[in-house]
Amino acid sequence: MNIENILNEGTRALKQSKIPNPQLDSEILLSNSIKRDKKYIILNPKELLNSEQVETFKNLIERRRRKEPVAYLINKKEFWKDEFFVNKDVLIPRPDTELIIEQVLKIYSKNSQLQVLDIGTGSGCILLSILKERPNFYGTGIDISKKSINVSKLNAKQLNLTSRVKFFHSSVDNFKIGKYDLIVSNPPYIELFNLKYLEKDVISFEPKLALSGGFDGFSKIRKVINKAKNLIKKNGKFILEIGFNQKNKVKKILKEEGFYTNKAIRDYGNNDRCIISTKI
Ligand code: GLN
Repeated sequence: MNIENILNEGTRALKQSKIPNPQLDSEILLSNSIKRDKKYIILNPKELLNSEQVETFKNLIERRRRKEPVAYLINKKEFWKDEFFVNKDVLIPRPDTELIIEQVLKIYSKNSQLQVLDIGTGSGCILLSILKERPNFYGTGIDISKKSINVSKLNAKQLNLTSRVKFFHSSVDNFKIGKYDLIVSNPPYIELFNLKYLEKDVISFEPKLALSGGFDGFSKIRKVINKAKNLIKKNGKFILEIGFNQKNKVKKILKEEGFYTNKAIRDYGNNDRCIISTKI
């Protein structure tokens, strides 16, 4: 079988299973199976594949037909300016979360020097992207998932950031180390009742620990705010990702815990997604 035939076969199979971008997914999965970039695939349609390559590809197509996300199939996802290793132990980085990076870069100039804490760091994508953009920032990432810490450490190594970042397996409840100038967090914020309405790609494969915000969707947000107030310096900034319908309540909680809300930012779908506040 040549590249063109197998690619078409993959596209057809994905289309049959109503996968949204069958051709694109088929190209990505083939390129991963034969360890060549997409350009190579397009330029060499007649090249023959060996049986092992065909097997690998067919296996990935089968998994994609069952809605496993492409990022988990190829173990990578682009976020901000880099590619991150991901597996089922971490949430797949979302474009909307890049809002946090954008805001940090707006607030702090290139030369500023400060300590950042990321609560629920997962793959480490938020913290590591910030550190890469700001060479004098030092970072700490914590997560209650022990397995996710292996992933964030691996990403720190790949991005040559190990000298400026530390990752700990810890709940924010037990974490008392230091005072931070900036705290960022994308906590789980989906309401228990709404979990079942997430797409199958998300709910059947991504860690529920990273999605579920408890009965009312606020249980983790509340905890993160409550603990952040003791870990942040006076006048420090706190940047939080929230659900589309959580702005007013989060502003209220922030106020009760001694934060001043600077602004809320909307995402690409025009939903409230990010809140910037200051500890007063
Ligand atoms: N934005 C994610 C989703 O909609 C949820 C992330 C989170 O709960 N922090 O799937």
